[in-house]
Amino acid sequence: MTLTPPPLSNDCFALPQGVNWTPVDQALALLRDRLNVVTGTEMVPLSAALGRVLAVDVAAQRSHPPLPNTAVDGYGFAGGRPAGPHVLPLVPGRAAAGVRHDLAVPEGAAIRVLTGAALPDGVDTVILEEDVRCDGAQIAFNGPLKAGANTRQAGEDVVAQDVILRAARVVTPADLALAAATGLNQMCVRKRLRVAVISTGDELVEPGQGAAPGQIFDANRPMLLGLIDEFGFAGIDMGRVGDDRDALRTALDEAAGRADVILTSGGASAGDEDHVSALLRQAGAMQQWRIALKPGRPLALGMWQDTPVFGLPGNPVAALVCSLIFARPAMGLMAGAGWSEPLGFSLPAAFRKRKKAGRREYLRARVRDGRAEVFASEGSGRISGLSWAEGLVELPDGAVEIEPGDSVRFFPYTSFGLK
Ligand code: AMP
Ligand code: MG
Repeated sequence: MTLTPPPLSNDCFALPQGVNWTPVDQALALLRDRLNVVTGTEMVPLSAALGRVLAVDVAAQRSHPPLPNTAVDGYGFAGGRPAGPHVLPLVPGRAAAGVRHDLAVPEGAAIRVLTGAALPDGVDTVILEEDVRCDGAQIAFNGPLKAGANTRQAGEDVVAQDVILRAARVVTPADLALAAATGLNQMCVRKRLRVAVISTGDELVEPGQGAAPGQIFDANRPMLLGLIDEFGFAGIDMGRVGDDRDALRTALDEAAGRADVILTSGGASAGDEDHVSALLRQAGAMQQWRIALKPGRPLALGMWQDTPVFGLPGNPVAALVCSLIFARPAMGLMAGAGWSEPLGFSLPAAFRKRKKAGRREYLRARVRDGRAEVFASEGSGRISGLSWAEGLVELPDGAVEIEPGDSVRFFPYTSFGLK
């Protein structure tokens, strides 16, 4: 009997007949529904709070500003003044920021004040020094000036005990200013989500090692550990394992003991050497997700000793896209930061593309001259395109034909929490 090859398929990504592919949004909804916060809490000083997830609502300890004060350098007195010239006698002394004083200003007199100083008794209005002539004993200026001009009211920004920051927020530099200004020196935050990273594949060697022909350097591990770092989680480097079920089992056991989430790459489809999916299936908690996503399949999702495992594709491009689209919001939820969606922008396309219905696609993209350009090759082995790109263009699940100038959705890498 002669062996004949199968007929060629003209689209190697054609969706198999009769298979139900899970749409991306449905897969995301499932993750959002099934996952919970897994991290404990700890108190940290403000100096260590940047980028951390708030565990509880934060209340101001003190009003801001704490006392009424002057917003400018000038002269303070009581009440506004109508249009026209005014001359006021000066009382001796000066109110400066941070300097304690018990100055009192009689009605109709003025006093020298410097920005940030608490208003002396009898002062509720300040005139800017540039608008004043002063001979040391009196000041002269032209009205009109409204009562309260150039001053700040106590608590006009924040009142003591107000909630200033909500639980689940990721602390920004501005938040540190707000917390410090309102009297806080520490915050209750979530412990960092611990994420273990394992690369799988007999072909992988460590960068810096000699590589025989046929071997490749492990590119996913540094990329995934870098992503985890930028997401604000604690990466745990679990190294590489070959295509060996026992070795992988041992690595997963160790990872489950040390981490809250495990990311593996490679070995996630249904082939002979796809041990990640095989082990997760044996563990009885395997969801082999056939997600209608390019590049992205296969993504294996399962539980290993109560620890969620994202079995990412081996292909670095697919591994990155799956990490950004699926693993990131899921890990954010587990970390206590809530589910977050990336902020996209509609931009005119600088490219032409025809796409069939039934699968969402992400293209490596960047913006030049206000238009979204995409990487010349869609090959999912082209790691150079990931570095070339500054984000992803999302093409919807339905069929689209894109002509230059048509509107497309662009998600900068920064919208996924990357720097
Ligand atoms: P797999 O999902 O294991 O079938 O791998 C798919 C493709 O990704 C193969 O060409 C692998 O050699 C490649 N690959 C898998 N893991 C890595 C890795 N850590 N770094 C670079 N390429 C990888
Ligand atoms: Mg492999």
